[in-house]
Amino acid sequence: MAKHPRIEVKCSVSNCKYNKDNYCFANKLEVNAMGDGYAKTSDGTVCTTFISQLDDNQINS
Ligand code: SF4
Repeated sequence: MAKHPRIEVKCSVSNCKYNKDNYCFANKLEVNAMGDGYAKTSDGTVCTTFISQLDDNQINS
């Protein structure tokens, strides 16, 4: 099985349930292009893993 890279993810989306002290604590992170699926700049990308703290206040990782 192929190994996947593991990186430190700094993130300022403080209302995400995976965010703690401006770092991401999700076990896996998925980022996709918005709209028609082709990003021209970083503004065209979105973190699909985001879940609002209002939906779930617990970090389950
Ligand atoms: S899941 Fe996405 S939005 Fe949430 S802390 Fe991680 S990088 Fe940020």
